[in-house]
Amino acid sequence: SICHLDGRYLPLREARVSPMDRGFLFGDGAYEVIPVYSRRPFRLEEHLARLARTLAALRLPDPHGAAGWAEIVREIVARNAWEDQSVYLQVTRGADDKRSHAFPVPIRPTVFLMSEELVTPPAAQLETGVAAVGAADFRWLRCDLKTVALLANCLLRQQAVDHGCAETVLFRDGFLTEGSASNIFIVRDGVVLAPPKSHLMLPGITYDVVLELAERHGQPHQVREILEDEVRSADEIWMTSSTKEVLAITTLDGRPVGSGRPGPVGRQMYAWYQDFKNTVMRS
Ligand code: PLP
Repeated sequence: SICHLDGRYLPLREARVSPMDRGFLFGDGAYEVIPVYSRRPFRLEEHLARLARTLAALRLPDPHGAAGWAEIVREIVARNAWEDQSVYLQVTRGADDKRSHAFPVPIRPTVFLMSEELVTPPAAQLETGVAAVGAADFRWLRCDLKTVALLANCLLRQQAVDHGCAETVLFRDGFLTEGSASNIFIVRDGVVLAPPKSHLMLPGITYDVVLELAERHGQPHQVREILEDEVRSADEIWMTSSTKEVLAITTLDGRPVGSGRPGPVGRQMYAWYQDFKNTVMRS
C-alpha cells in the first residue's frame, strides 16, 4: 500500500522514521482513524476537529490545518486500491538530537498516513455478537485525547484476547468508561444509555453519530454516568467505533448479556447507522 511520510507518497514497506522520533521514544503524538466508504471519508470534518483538539492539548503545532489534511487524506485514498479504506493519520513531535523529556526547539513534527482495507464486522459476527471481558480502567486521566501512547489500551485489549474475547469493557471507580478501543452503550428497559463525555473517555465520532440517530428517530436515550452493576445486568451492550460501527457484545465475563443474542434496539441502531452511511455517501 501507499503511505504518506512528511510530504512524500511512497510504498509503506519503504517508509523509514528515525529511532530518535519522539513517537518511538515517548509515545509523543496524536492520531486518528478515518473510515472511508466507496472512496468517501466518513465524518472527516469531525475527525479533523478532534485531531486539532488533541494536537492543541499536546501543545503540538498543527502542521497542516483542516484543508491541508483533507487534501492528504484524499490523495492517500486515491493512491490505494480499496473502495472502503481505514485511513490511519499520525503526527508526532518529531526527532531530536538527544533524548530529553522536554520538547525540542524548534519542533518539526513527523507526519505519517497509511491506509488499510476497511473490513467492518462480517454478517456472522453481527448475528451472534461478540464476547467481552470487564477490567479496571488503569489508564491516565486524559483519555479524551487520541494519543499514540496506547500501552494501557494494548494491555487491556490483550486481556480480552487471552480469554478468546473481542473487547475489554472498562470500569473506573464502579462506573463504565469505555472499551479498550471503542465506546460502550447499554440498553435498559428500552432506553439507550451512554456515559457522558469527560477526561475519562475518548469522545468517539461513532458515539456522536449513534446519539444523533437516537435523537432523530425518537429512540429513548439518556447520557449519564452508568454503574458497573447496570452494565452487568443490561438488556443489551454495544461497542461502537469507526471500524466496528455498532457491534453487540453478547457475553460479558462469560455471562450472557440479556438473551445472549444481539437485541432489538441494537439491531435497529445498526440499520439506522447503515442507512445514514449510505445516504451520506450518495449525497
Ligand atoms: N475509545 C477508544 C479508546 C478508541 O480507541 C476508539 C477508537 O477506535 C473509540 C473509543 C471510538 O472512537 P471513534 O468512534 O471515533 O472511532
